[in-house]
Amino acid sequence: MHEYPITENIVKIAEKHGRAARASRVESITLVVGDRSGFIGDSIRMYFDIIAEGTLCEGAELIVRPVRSRLRCPACGNMFHRQPLSFACPDCGADGAPTEIGKEFYIESVTVS
Ligand SMILES: [Zn+2]
Repeated sequence: MHEYPITENIVKIAEKHGRAARASRVESITLVVGDRSGFIGDSIRMYFDIIAEGTLCEGAELIVRPVRSRLRCPACGNMFHRQPLSFACPDCGADGAPTEIGKEFYIESVTVS
């Protein structure tokens, strides 16, 4: 549910961008969403069409670029994707620690016409 206000923000930002460029419409918005960002790309997509109605973003394509989180192994420095039910490094078996990778949440690009 908390994707609703964030989707409103995305539409606002893209609209502002479109106005600044004197565009007649926003063609597409690319959004980067990490799997630990706390936001679900599909939910944003669901709200997007409703919120975009009547704005420059109406009919725009919302492209969600997912980022899978990675752990860093404290023993050997390996960066790896966590396996289900395990934090173990695939190279040496030590428990990996969370990194910033996967927390991304930002608009990567907006194209207008
Ligand atoms: Zn390791």
